[in-house]
Amino acid sequence: MIRANDPSLKSWVDVASDSEFPIQNLPFGIARIENGDAVVASRIGDFVINLSILGEHSFFEDLEFDISVFQKNTLNDFISLGKEKTAKVRDRISAILDTDLEDWDASELKDYFLIPIGKVEMLMPIQIGDYTDFYSSIDHATNVGTMFRDPENALLPNWKHLPVGYHGRASSIVVSGTPTIRPNGQQKPNDGPPVFGPCKLLDFELEMGVVVGKETQLGESVPVDQAEDFIFGMVILNDWSARDIQKWEYIPLGPFLAKNFNSTISAWVVTLDALQPFKVDGYKQTPEVLPYLKQSDIKNYDINLEVAIQPDGGQDTTVCNSNFKYMYWTMSQQLAHHTVNGCNIRVGDMYGSGTISGPEKSMYGSMLELSWKGTTPVALNNGETRKFIQDGDTVIMKAYSEKDGLRIGFGECKSKVLPARQTV
Ligand code: CA
Repeated sequence: MIRANDPSLKSWVDVASDSEFPIQNLPFGIARIENGDAVVASRIGDFVINLSILGEHSFFEDLEFDISVFQKNTLNDFISLGKEKTAKVRDRISAILDTDLEDWDASELKDYFLIPIGKVEMLMPIQIGDYTDFYSSIDHATNVGTMFRDPENALLPNWKHLPVGYHGRASSIVVSGTPTIRPNGQQKPNDGPPVFGPCKLLDFELEMGVVVGKETQLGESVPVDQAEDFIFGMVILNDWSARDIQKWEYIPLGPFLAKNFNSTISAWVVTLDALQPFKVDGYKQTPEVLPYLKQSDIKNYDINLEVAIQPDGGQDTTVCNSNFKYMYWTMSQQLAHHTVNGCNIRVGDMYGSGTISGPEKSMYGSMLELSWKGTTPVALNNGETRKFIQDGDTVIMKAYSEKDGLRIGFGECKSKVLPARQTV
């Protein structure tokens, strides 16, 4: 077991028993502190840990790296130190906060490096170079195939042989809290010529984003059983989608403007190390996959996922409870497939799992599925219903793993929808 994951560890920092950020989590993010500087931070309970201050006080000196990586406004340079080093940093932060480890006790400095979460602004954690989106939940793909084709042939012939994906756009990925502006675009009514205007079928997609932590050279491939060495951590991802624009534009090359107007990620990158205690079996893959996709051990993760809709000024209603364990293709298989042709990857690249639905109706990860193409509206607590997302609605996604009374969470991925921009 990784020492920092030990469930018996206790911190001298007060942490609520149901907090998603106990001493066993210690995710990484970028915080804007009161003087306006952006710094690399971790989190415990309701406090942000300013790693730049700890660096200046020599708490990482023996780990021998340039502590200026903590004064950057993205995590890229820190992640580039490599997982061996960043794991030691996480272990050291754990030691600093640990009640029982007096060697690294920093409690006397707590007023300098612990900042109440309400006093910082969380910024975009990574500079994302390339973004890829997969389509790897069998329940989601089956639902979509059933709606748009037929239940007998819901999955296309390639689906169980390779993790289907496409290249998305990195420039429009933003951090939780950033509003989502309803996109404009072309739509094709069933009984007339195409029209232009605001998207009428705006949807969320419940996904997890995987952050690449190690580069490869062009021509190199990542073996499936080594893929986790190339993954730094994960975030929650809302891959906003314009269903009406998508329906008209996607033939024959796939998603374009229906997907690239906005994607929202959570601010904290939870390390793959912190998630190790939550590995679980996934779907049995039949037919058998080709050798380069064969995994020798368990690579699915038990991460509870929730989506809530909060109408303007109202209470939120949970509309979906899913789990990352329902992925048919694992993130390791996705990375092995992505690089099998020699496509290189870089630190800070991100790939999306694809919408994560589970086998029950309450586990569907998009309004398209929850409202079954708009035929069964979803009830909200305030008496309203939704087929898709309206202006003024805030979509809130949460993710956490839980075991033996310990919760390792991702915080929130939240965004309010604003009306479309006026166009001519
Ligand atoms: Ca997607």
